[in-house]
Amino acid sequence: MRVTMPVIFGALVAILLWGMFSAVAALLFVLLVLLLLMGLHAWQLYRMGEWLKEPRIETIPEAEGVWGEIFSRLFRMVKRHKLTKKKLAAELVNIEQATAALPEGVTSLNEVNRIEWCNPLAEFHFGINANRDILQDITYLVRQPEFIDYLQAGNFSMALVMKSARHQDLVLSINLIFYADNKRLLISRDITQLERMETMRRDFVANVSHELRTPLTVISGFVENLQDMPDLSRDNIQRVLMLMAEQNRRMDSLVSDLLTLSSLENEQRPLRAEMINIKALLEDIYQDGQMLSPGRHQHSLEMTGPAYLQGNRDELHSAFSNLVSNAVRYTPEGGAIKLRWFVRAGQPVFSVQDSGIGIEAHHIPRLTERFYRVDLGRSRETGGTGLGLAIVKHIALRHHAHLEISSQTGHGSTFSLLFSEAKIG
Ligand code: ADP
Repeated sequence: MRVTMPVIFGALVAILLWGMFSAVAALLFVLLVLLLLMGLHAWQLYRMGEWLKEPRIETIPEAEGVWGEIFSRLFRMVKRHKLTKKKLAAELVNIEQATAALPEGVTSLNEVNRIEWCNPLAEFHFGINANRDILQDITYLVRQPEFIDYLQAGNFSMALVMKSARHQDLVLSINLIFYADNKRLLISRDITQLERMETMRRDFVANVSHELRTPLTVISGFVENLQDMPDLSRDNIQRVLMLMAEQNRRMDSLVSDLLTLSSLENEQRPLRAEMINIKALLEDIYQDGQMLSPGRHQHSLEMTGPAYLQGNRDELHSAFSNLVSNAVRYTPEGGAIKLRWFVRAGQPVFSVQDSGIGIEAHHIPRLTERFYRVDLGRSRETGGTGLGLAIVKHIALRHHAHLEISSQTGHGSTFSLLFSEAKIG
């Protein structure tokens, strides 16, 4: 409608001119009008062309009539497009943040194993860079033969377990998953902790079997002897039975320590804490210690610490008596064993100091490992299971206490349990 208005108006004026003057004048007028219209459209086309070079909402040209309509439609189109772009960008950021938060490394590979993108964890696992290494063949960057074999073998039903080349301690489990048109997702998972626990479990089972095998072998040897020699004297039988009972006791204490340890390690079992009369408990421990080495060691007890402590009586009894029993077992006759309950820098401390054989410094960090012994022979001779300090460490952990060990070879050792100030009653 708006386009035709100037045309109709022009035609009317032309007819008027034709009537008033001549056909030539009318034609000249029409020509002039058409030229004007063409110039106007050319100008608007030029403006649109200029704007399209950098189409921004703020700079859209303004116009009347048909061009006004065109520009306002363009304006709405650009606005819609901008909004969609914004939404897509937000979605992309969302996806990027989600993949970055994944607890696994994710690398997308094309059909020829070139990297398309990866999340930060994958960058860490493989030592690659999401920007620098885009479209690089992953086998050029991760060159371990087992990894290349895994990608080439084409059997992805099982995960590949391998050490990271960049981080020596890191053990990775790697899975390849297919998606879309022959694209691949490489999922890498850090299983270092799991592997460590599996190794510990295997070592533990091997250690327990080994510990039990020795007394069992001895007992079955004695049983065979008794069977083969029916006319053994009563005295000899008595001696053999005593030795068997000794091995039996060894197995018994091993099993009992194992049970204690397993119940302490059970995270489902919370600590049942109460206010303990710690001074009374230490009196008991002190007397038990004296009974362990009647007349062989000089025992003493010094108590200046608080009378009450929050904790589990049975567990603390077990921890304290393990430390005292060790002091007795690793201190030659005539030595001194000093028990102390005192406050150091606000913290209540229980310490057992002995004047025994002492421990070389490099053994100290490992003493609380299960079955770790400095001298296996001495530990066994004195009825040790190699689990005592592991039990002490666990009880300390459950009481938020800290086990401190200081020692000097040939001069003795001090084992101290440092409790939290908050546990004082
Ligand atoms: P064990 O049953 O062998 O004594 P523990 O876990 O109680 O096991 O102790 C681990 C090792 O620490 C012992 O085998 C011993 O070598 C060393 N040890 C523990 N207490 C003392 C101590 N008071 N003096 C010297 N060595 C000690």
